Amino acid sequence: MTEKLYEQDSLARECKAVVTSCVFDGEKYNIVLDRTVLFPEGGGQLSDTGRIEGGGKIVHVLHGTEKAGTISYCCDALLAPGTEVTVYVDWQRRLDYMQQHCGEHILSYSFWKLFGVHNIGFHMSERMVTIDLDQEITQEQAVQAENFANEEIWQNKAIHVLYAPSSEAAKLAMRKKNEKIKGMVRIVAIDNGDVCTCCGTHPPYTGMIGIIKIMKMIRHRGGMRIEFLCGRWALETIRQEVQYIEEASNMLSTKEKLVCEGIRSLQEKVRMLHEDVRQQTDVIQRQEIDEIWKKGVNDGQGNVIFTVMKDPYTPKSAKMLLQKLVAVEHAVAVIVYCQENRIYYMVGSGAEVNLDCRTYLKLANTLFNGKGGGSPVLCQGSASVFSQWKQQAEKLFECIRK
Ligand SMILES: [Zn+2]
Repeated sequence: MTEKLYEQDSLARECKAVVTSCVFDGEKYNIVLDRTVLFPEGGGQLSDTGRIEGGGKIVHVLHGTEKAGTISYCCDALLAPGTEVTVYVDWQRRLDYMQQHCGEHILSYSFWKLFGVHNIGFHMSERMVTIDLDQEITQEQAVQAENFANEEIWQNKAIHVLYAPSSEAAKLAMRKKNEKIKGMVRIVAIDNGDVCTCCGTHPPYTGMIGIIKIMKMIRHRGGMRIEFLCGRWALETIRQEVQYIEEASNMLSTKEKLVCEGIRSLQEKVRMLHEDVRQQTDVIQRQEIDEIWKKGVNDGQGNVIFTVMKDPYTPKSAKMLLQKLVAVEHAVAVIVYCQENRIYYMVGSGAEVNLDCRTYLKLANTLFNGKGGGSPVLCQGSASVFSQWKQQAEKLFECIRK
């Protein structure tokens, strides 16, 4: 059994200890101490990291796990059993984890207290924490819970760790209890606030959590998944996001609060420009279509084949041109064009055509070494550009006209 000093004092950053065993597993050294300040992974809280100094060495603790009361630390070097050591916790990381973990208690409590919603899932990874609620909630409810949770922090309430026999604990009014635990149960109770069973580390006062910020909420399995951050992680993420908004406001030459308005205005300008281009393309295509029609070739099956090559051209313009060409009966149009280092080809047919457009598409796929597909009346494909693509397009047109 390892004496868990972090259970009595979550602020202890170091302790004296003795190495009781050290086993090399082929990759890392697994060190067991008689006592420790390093919390192993458990109860949804991630493992501490830290270092062990002794016997003239500094050994880094990468991860800890607990089995039947004994904690084993995965370390990068050997320490002989019997060595007297000092154990140091990586404090910044511990504080980050305590803030997120204890913040999770308080936010879950807020949803439960205000709306009777239960937390049925919890996940913590680097820079993101989520809880899953068993019911859907509104944006307004989330804001209320967030406000309530932050009030719990600003009141700087004391957080107590209590132990009770499982039979007694079962009778207590708790938000969450683990009924599988037999023997002594560890209970974490916030003054006039959340009470639940938990094995993790918590600060002595809620004020140390600093802030709780909900970052996102999505519907999830009939309930809600809430992404949130606490303390330093919240501060750093918000700082980063404020910077993004500032950059955007500089780019738009507008105030931060007018960024969305600025983007909407840009979107409208882009839409108008697109419409302008579409109308001009329409005018140009109407002028050139007579020339294309003159060059139409009868394939001997009653179909008239039109071939067009464009460099550069856009998919929208190509589609507009194709629609114009196949607006007449018996027309089959083949358009090859280049855009941003890619060749695109389109085959379409009008009414009364007795030809499957995919026949020509397959031919184009082969000649351009490209990929594509579609229906018998409209299909398209694309390929990487190559120096001889225009000659290859002419070859395609020749094969089709024959
Ligand atoms: Zn806890």
